[in-house]
Amino acid sequence: MNVRELRQDPITGLYVAIAEGRSKRPNGDFLPENPKVLPDKDIECFFCPGNENATPPEIWAYRQGGFWWVRGVPNKFPIFSGGNGLEQKVADAEHDENIFYNSRSINGRHDVIVDTPRHNEELHQRDEGQIRESLWFYKELLAGERKGEQIKYVLIFKNRGELAAGSLEHPHTQFIVSPIPMPEITDEIAGASRYFIGENRARIQGQCGYCNVLLHELQVKDKQGVESDRHRVIDENPFFVAFAPYASRTPFEMMVIPKMHQADYDMISDVEATHLARVVQNIFRKLERTFPNVSYNFGLHTAPLNSGVKSHYHWHLEVAPVLKRDGGLERFGRIPVNPISPEKAAYTLNLNHQP
Ligand SMILES: [Zn+2]
Ligand SMILES: [Zn+2]
Ligand SMILES: [Zn+2]
Repeated sequence: MNVRELRQDPITGLYVAIAEGRSKRPNGDFLPENPKVLPDKDIECFFCPGNENATPPEIWAYRQGGFWWVRGVPNKFPIFSGGNGLEQKVADAEHDENIFYNSRSINGRHDVIVDTPRHNEELHQRDEGQIRESLWFYKELLAGERKGEQIKYVLIFKNRGELAAGSLEHPHTQFIVSPIPMPEITDEIAGASRYFIGENRARIQGQCGYCNVLLHELQVKDKQGVESDRHRVIDENPFFVAFAPYASRTPFEMMVIPKMHQADYDMISDVEATHLARVVQNIFRKLERTFPNVSYNFGLHTAPLNSGVKSHYHWHLEVAPVLKRDGGLERFGRIPVNPISPEKAAYTLNLNHQP
């Protein structure tokens, strides 16, 4: 049966249109991929071992002797750069534009984390230990920014594949230190605050919306209170759950969230990092088996540094495979149109994991 409904995100309150069955062809709404077999090492790649001098001076690396396994370097083509990222550009009376409009310098930092020395080792191919090392590197870099009191946000994300704006093949993650807040996080925090004060369907107060969502996803009951399948869960271990969000904005969207309430990603423990690596490896293996060589964006949403939203914000990872193009409804109306329900997406991902 085709699902056709407007679903509201329980935290942000934004609607998405789940509109199945609009395409005549099965999977006809999905963009084709361009499978390309990459070598283990590319002598022209800035990020491959042996070419360390081709990057700007290294910020930090996990290395032993001459061998490194995760490396952080400034982005050669940064979006945010220069200054300390904090100063507001003073309106210049000589320029009329600055009297009418507001602008500021695009200061800040834009670094790159080289996730593995191997040119072709994507997340689904990487062993758990190597995934853990890059997740731990994110944590340590993020923790290092805590001193910067006026930093508005640190965004960590990956763009893999051309359709996701990934311009370099070698697996890497981007790390942006921004002088302005990220509107996506602002929306989530505003929604989480409303939830916390009782503006939710159950009218319950003093609870984290994200904690409640994950409890619900792990124990779905129907209107009569009968437990049914956990039909959006994609992976689970003692510390984390991965699921397809109820109001998924894109086909095969996935969220990974810690079971214990935690606002700041950089508070993860040793054992949590190991379990996080495991769940990340599992979901990317499932995704790859379903859509070989798919492009995706992958991002970390954590509380802004020094923000004091510890009680009601809950960090998570979001994975958005790029399987469709946006149209006018998304662009001009901000209503995402998703041609596959998250239930069907989770079912397909789980099915494709069978040996
Ligand atoms: Zn490379
Ligand atoms: Zn929570
Ligand atoms: Zn989020």
